[in-house]
Amino acid sequence: MVTAAGDLPPVGELRLAIGGSRVLTDPDAMEGYRRDQTPSVEPGLPACVVLAESTADVSATLGWAQRHRVPVVPRGGGSSLAGGAAATDGCVILSLGRMNAIREVDPGNEIAVAEAGVFNADLDRAAAGHGLMYAPDPSSYEISTIGGNLATNAGGLRCVKYGVTRDAVLGLEVVLAGGRVLRTGRRTAKGVTGYDLTSLFVGSEGTLGVITSATLRLRQRPVSYPATMAAGFASFGAGAEAVTAILAARIRPSLLELMDSATLRAIDEWKSTGFGDEVRALLIAQDDTPAADQVVQAMRDVCAGSGAVLADVSESEAESRQLLDLRRLSYPAIERLGVPMVEDVCVPRTRLPEMIQRIEQAGERHGVFIATVAHAGDGNLHPVFVYDRGLPEVPAAVWSAADEVFRAALELGGTLTGEHGIGMIKRRWLAEELGEDSLAVHHAIKDALDPAGIMNPGKVL
Ligand SMILES: Cc1cc2nc3c(=O)[nH]c(=O)nc-3n(C[C@H](O)[C@H](O)[C@H](O)COP(=O)(O)OP(=O)(O)OC[C@H]3O[C@@H](n4cnc5c(N)ncnc54)[C@H](O)[C@@H]3O)c2cc1C
Repeated sequence: MVTAAGDLPPVGELRLAIGGSRVLTDPDAMEGYRRDQTPSVEPGLPACVVLAESTADVSATLGWAQRHRVPVVPRGGGSSLAGGAAATDGCVILSLGRMNAIREVDPGNEIAVAEAGVFNADLDRAAAGHGLMYAPDPSSYEISTIGGNLATNAGGLRCVKYGVTRDAVLGLEVVLAGGRVLRTGRRTAKGVTGYDLTSLFVGSEGTLGVITSATLRLRQRPVSYPATMAAGFASFGAGAEAVTAILAARIRPSLLELMDSATLRAIDEWKSTGFGDEVRALLIAQDDTPAADQVVQAMRDVCAGSGAVLADVSESEAESRQLLDLRRLSYPAIERLGVPMVEDVCVPRTRLPEMIQRIEQAGERHGVFIATVAHAGDGNLHPVFVYDRGLPEVPAAVWSAADEVFRAALELGGTLTGEHGIGMIKRRWLAEELGEDSLAVHHAIKDALDPAGIMNPGKVL
């Protein structure tokens, strides 16, 4: 493998192939492409950055990389929280940001064709012009791309009702290691021809190929802004029990989010929410159907029956937005307290109360401050481990607490990552979840598609 300190790859040849101005080698120009949003990962030094503008550019880059054994790090918005887009030494960073055309919105078939570098929110706005929506909505929707969302199988707030990115994709254009262009899937609502290669690339974190465009499913856009319910509980466990009760009542909210007391305190210190000390968890739920007002009232009644210390429903769109803003304030509020290492585990929904207990115990045992926000309707928790700014690296106690949290998720029948991916930071736990046979199949697939091992090396496997 080429390293920054060793043989330099012949970048001149790449410049000839795709045009000099789109191949960056100046360290200052490359700096903005080197790291993602994972504070615990110090990226390597790339050999160059390619600003691809077409599938042909991607193909030429991957052909060159294969010939010269140069590691390739595909990059969308660089918002990864798992170190997935962080540079490795001597790599080519392949940025898809300039491939940002929405090639087609087809309202009749409720599909869109978008290039990999389109921002999630831009696609949703384009769909809105036709009364449709692109449902997967990671909180990073303004800064993350369709390609990155596909590569990580991103989730989001409304996934509890509409599913994750995988549920919204019908087909892909992918450039394989070496430069071959593969088309997977279809444009039709149904279809089972051949293996499901589309799903294989979804969540593959840039380790199997580079997604250049996708055919995506759109959905009917709700006619009005969702109605919102907010309920406060004396403990996170009580809030989690209310989540179970809402779903057991067969209510299907379009959003169901739970915040713990550390998060509420952080928001309160910043914005003075006025919640009393008795509120130690806040559940926020939305419904986006025409019967939204009745549905949120039904959820309020379930929460009241589950011991809520307060429960309120919105009476206008403005109020509804205000209640949801509490959820949106959570990360910026936590970020004010120190460096946030945002983690991501998922457990069966009914195990949420146990999982939150295990997170609290891990924090206490290792003396680490953890604030947790959960996409509770999916059993997906984001414990945010906060440590002092100015420390040169993640303190050992944070890793010990994180280790305990990851193992607890597995013990409870859950998974290491609900939506952020394995990236660089969770590789050491991967075998524990997958087991020997699954891991061997993973390696066999990787070897078949990337025999030289140059696609995002050091990530996932
Ligand atoms: C404030 C904030 C909030 C977030 N909220 C959420 C959330 O609610 N839900 C959620 O799921 N995630 C969330 N994330 C994490 C992150 O936004 C997602 O993982 C997102 O899908 C990454 O998209 P990106 O375009 O930024 O990809 P990048 O960060 O550039 O890359 C992510 C991974 O995908 C690979 N990749 C990128 N583009 C391609 C491509 N075209 N082909 C092949 N591989 C590619 C990269 O190599 C890397 O492994 C959040 C992040 C931040 C900073």
